[in-house]
Amino acid sequence: MTREIKTTCPYCGVGCGVIARIADDGNVSVKGDPDHPANFGRLCSKGSALAETIDLDGRVLHPEIAGRRAGWNEALDLVAQRFSDAIAEHGPDSVAFYVSGQLLTEDYYVANKLMKGFIGSANIDTNSRLCMSSSVAGHRRAFGADTVPGTYEDLELADLVILTGSNLAWCHPVIYQRLTAAKQARPGMKIVVIDPRRTMTADFADLHLAIRPDSDVALFLGLFEHLIANNAIDQNYVAEHTNGFAEAFASASGVSFNEVLERTGLPAMQLREFYRLFEATEKTVTCYSQGINQSSSGTDKVNAIINCHLATGRIGRPGMGPFSLTGQPNAMGGREVGGLANMLAAHMAIESGQDRDRVQRFWQSPAIAEAPGLKAVDMFKAVGDGRIKALWIMATNPVVSLPDSDAVEAAIKACPFVVVSDILKTTDTARHAQVLLPSLGWGEKSGTVTNSERRISRQRSFIDAPGEARADWWQLAEVARRMGFADAFAFASPADIFVEHAALSAFENSGSRDFDIGAYAGIGKAAYEEMTPFQWPQPIGDERIVTRFFAKGSFFHADRKARFVPVEPPASDRTSADYPFTLNTGRIRDQWHTMTRTGKSARLSAHIAEPFGELHPRDAMEIGIGNAGLVEIESPHGRVIVRALITERQARGSIFVPMHWNDQFAARARIDAVVGPLTDPFSGQPASKNVAVAARPLKAA
Ligand code: SF4
Repeated sequence: MTREIKTTCPYCGVGCGVIARIADDGNVSVKGDPDHPANFGRLCSKGSALAETIDLDGRVLHPEIAGRRAGWNEALDLVAQRFSDAIAEHGPDSVAFYVSGQLLTEDYYVANKLMKGFIGSANIDTNSRLCMSSSVAGHRRAFGADTVPGTYEDLELADLVILTGSNLAWCHPVIYQRLTAAKQARPGMKIVVIDPRRTMTADFADLHLAIRPDSDVALFLGLFEHLIANNAIDQNYVAEHTNGFAEAFASASGVSFNEVLERTGLPAMQLREFYRLFEATEKTVTCYSQGINQSSSGTDKVNAIINCHLATGRIGRPGMGPFSLTGQPNAMGGREVGGLANMLAAHMAIESGQDRDRVQRFWQSPAIAEAPGLKAVDMFKAVGDGRIKALWIMATNPVVSLPDSDAVEAAIKACPFVVVSDILKTTDTARHAQVLLPSLGWGEKSGTVTNSERRISRQRSFIDAPGEARADWWQLAEVARRMGFADAFAFASPADIFVEHAALSAFENSGSRDFDIGAYAGIGKAAYEEMTPFQWPQPIGDERIVTRFFAKGSFFHADRKARFVPVEPPASDRTSADYPFTLNTGRIRDQWHTMTRTGKSARLSAHIAEPFGELHPRDAMEIGIGNAGLVEIESPHGRVIVRALITERQARGSIFVPMHWNDQFAARARIDAVVGPLTDPFSGQPASKNVAVAARPLKAA
């Protein structure tokens, strides 16, 4: 008899509910879960193809040491010994974990607990650093904590939806489907897309603002100035619920309309129309994604947006607010358990002595990291210069996805001890592991994920683990046990871990916040097994708990007020005579990250079969490249070879290349070899959208 299991898609941050159907012969098929509040039965092309990607081709089935098969005990003993040796000889900051938004919350929790509470270092960072850390930093500056106030329903309720730095149609397809349905039902709804490229999302917009790269701060400073000049500020809201308006006003008043025109390159009529729409539309949601976050001014961009919502009081109410869309399936879950180098568990601050003390007493740990650790890009620099002696990489492929990826690969090769936990032995990173540990894949592992609207859902196992593969949390707990921390890591199941995480979220809260930021302490093991998707903070009969953040105008700063953050428009043109083009990297519709899973589906690969570089026709003519010709793109950091796709959708002087391809699929196609290690000063997020490059036709050898 066919079995049906409710689980969650492992790809993007929309977090769609999936029903996996397992036939008697073991054949698996999937369909959207009609009861899941993120997708109500919808799936995009990637989610629909999930069953095509769960074969055993390329899987790691047994632990390996230096390429030979090993037993779990031998491998785990070695990992524990080498980490302990490095810590004893060089201190706790000589080791690091680089983890992933693909991990489940339970995996993330155990990794974070081991590194911050028991090893005593904060050198744990995640590939979510590449995805949304500028939003985290912006939220913390404005709200006092990393909390996302928006929900998907807000987009459907809004009269104006601004999508900035977001190709929703390809990167969050089910939200796009919900938004298009809402617009069809309410044609008066307006959509503004802000993106240098004419994407499929821009095709659907009432207004497409093709701004110059990294001119977003100027655009939103100009909007702030416009709101002031047109008496559109909600003075009561500003007075009662915010601080810092005067400073933000001072920073905006230095930016004239003409300067915004010059910086953004927009026609005056379009800019006026955008400002008029925002001014006139109370129910406005501003969604932002990687085009905002992946920038050397990403955090300022986030705060420039939030400033406009605070100034108009458009936050914490249905159909309005700033809304960061996360890229990965569990970027949010990682944030909840402190899986970034500058966070503690349960959204507590590593810089706060009170928070550190609270977490340490809850964990009864021998240590607690006292300062932020190395963020992703700096972590791999430290691997490269020998400061990191032992590195554990889990569920991610930094040799393809990190900027300056040739240097990252060289650093990993040179590191004295590298452990990789993954499902595939064929990734560009796994090939360099001294110890390779077989992990569980989608359909095999169990735990929770949190989507972009803070909705927690279960991923459930429905197929047997292949070979000797084990959960990531189990691997971490076994290493912790061997390092002498058996009692604190005596977890027997993901439910044990979740219950501890939930208890920490409420530990000694005693009214110091308006609500427990974790606020699911009422969930025990039985409820965990039965869990249906829910948004936190969850109402559990406590009056202090609200379900919509900031509904009462109360924020997480000590005075309960939000902060306006003064920002300055940055210099954004990085081109030079040698590197005259601006490279922008991003996703395509049917591939996920470095294609290690979606690359297995012939159907998905049929959409776009090979790496490409989008160029404007006049640029193509000037450099002498024809459509489908091979073009070499180069920066001081590296080069790639891709096929030219000539289109007027691309602005002059710019090139778009997808981020997915790796050396398994095409020679010299890792675009992150070209992207330099420039990062945002507050978030540490790499700037992947504005890279100066040269482009030329590939010469025959
Ligand atoms: Fe999966 Fe995202 Fe597609 Fe939903 S929109 S099916 S979560 S990839």
